[in-house]
Amino acid sequence: MNQKTARQLVRNFFTTLCIFILFGSIYLFVPKRIKEIDFTILFILLFISSLATYYASLAHKRRIQRIIDFDELTGLMTTKNFIENVEHILKTAKSDEYSIISIDIEKFRYLADALGTDTADAIIKELAKHFKKEAPSDALICRNYTDNFIVLVKATFRPIVEDQVLSLLSVVEKMGNLLPLHYTLDFSIGVYVIMNTNEKVQSMIEKANTARKFGMRSFNPRRVSFYDENMKITTENEKEIIFDMNRAFEENEFIAYYQPKFRFQDAQIIGAEALVRWNHKTKGILPPSAFVPLFERNGFIQKIDLLVFESVCKFLDKWNKSAPEDKTAPAITISCNLSRMQLYNPDVAKEYAEIASKYQIAPSKIEIELTESLMMDNKERLLKAMNEIKKVGFEISVDDFGSGFSSLGLLKDIPANVIKLDKSFLGSESEREHIIIKSVITMAKDLDLKTVAEGIEDKEQAELLKNMGCDIAQGYLYSKPIPEKDFENLLHKALD
Ligand code: C2E
Ligand code: MG
Ligand code: MG
Repeated sequence: MNQKTARQLVRNFFTTLCIFILFGSIYLFVPKRIKEIDFTILFILLFISSLATYYASLAHKRRIQRIIDFDELTGLMTTKNFIENVEHILKTAKSDEYSIISIDIEKFRYLADALGTDTADAIIKELAKHFKKEAPSDALICRNYTDNFIVLVKATFRPIVEDQVLSLLSVVEKMGNLLPLHYTLDFSIGVYVIMNTNEKVQSMIEKANTARKFGMRSFNPRRVSFYDENMKITTENEKEIIFDMNRAFEENEFIAYYQPKFRFQDAQIIGAEALVRWNHKTKGILPPSAFVPLFERNGFIQKIDLLVFESVCKFLDKWNKSAPEDKTAPAITISCNLSRMQLYNPDVAKEYAEIASKYQIAPSKIEIELTESLMMDNKERLLKAMNEIKKVGFEISVDDFGSGFSSLGLLKDIPANVIKLDKSFLGSESEREHIIIKSVITMAKDLDLKTVAEGIEDKEQAELLKNMGCDIAQGYLYSKPIPEKDFENLLHKALD
């Protein structure tokens, strides 16, 4: 007998004794008439009422247990219950026998904002009902959080797991009239194949979630992404960058490099594109590919864009003041990249114009590069931002033109001054491709747009583009992106 049980027994004994003394005393004082009442009935009543109290408390306990074990909205398991059940199953499972699947509705937060909480709840409920019906009979499902479902399936072979996922998600049309007309739900799906059954289930769920998030980054038509260890390394690297970014910003490690641009006609330098670099204290100079995509996801890119823009203004100010008293410095135009995040800032044009005026820079000497792919994202927002930026006087260029699908349609709508032909566009040697490039350049001219060819690496490409009538050249053939000081020296040498 353990200590706790012994204590419980002593407590019960004293409680019974107290009740006995209490009833005994009452019995001694009650009048004789009452003593004649049939105590058998009284005891039966007492027994029934204690039995009822006992079952009521049992039901209450069960209700509480159900709340702990099952999600109130969907009736699916809670994560805690799911983990316990998976642990139990894996005790006797082999490696490479089960997979954990993580399913998430894309942009659910926006959907919930637009449709309201009740409809969002109804969608989740409907989805859970469908999952329960479509999942294999030996699968376990839980709702991990808002719109994140975790499923354990007894399958690891990719095509089989993918088929199971697809049947789970054959749901869109079954959402009834909960969704607006023509609206379909998009899902992101990550799969972790369980090789080590002793691993913590929570860590398995995290890995399925990591795979899911990676799948969202790439264009993956089936949207099912399987976990691999490289994802973990990338995630660790990204965490390291996130922990380090504020320090690096404070310590001025983000700097602007400049890639010169040249006029085709007379090979004269006319300006540059400013491109960010991370001058990391231990890792050295890092290219944008190492951090820009991550900063675009976590929003930090807005600070970087502003910093690069302000560096450009400072540089232009310095350049303008570099000429002797009686002369004006030759005019140059510098372009800055603007990330998609900025389009959601309604004051972006105003903020940029204020910085330019702080350094007394004419906005027409700065070109804002907006990538063509933004058009696929949110055409209205892009056009609105472009118009506002143009209104305050900046030049606008469409970056990476030809890399997406929207290029030609884009030309008739946008208020741009410049289009930058994407480097992938220039790579091909085929006659057909050349015809397309020539037509784009001609069309741009007719629309009064300047053309820049970026990524020119050899003389043949340069000659071809020059003959086609392209205006400006940018590429490794002329110069790689270089530090500010080197660019300044280059300008002095070329323009003095
Ligand atoms: P982008 O704006 O299209 O910039 C052109 C990229 O092409 C630059 O890469 C440049 O170094 C590279 N490039 C130029 N000529 C050649 C060439 O002849 N051959 C090859 N192979 N590449 C060439 P970088 O500097 O690595 O920048 C990559 C991308 O990162 C940029 O593409 C831009 O989308 C983004 N980025 C760079 N700086 C910023 C910034 O300050 N803000 C934002 N939002 N994005 C930036
Ligand atoms: Mg650019
Ligand atoms: Mg580009």
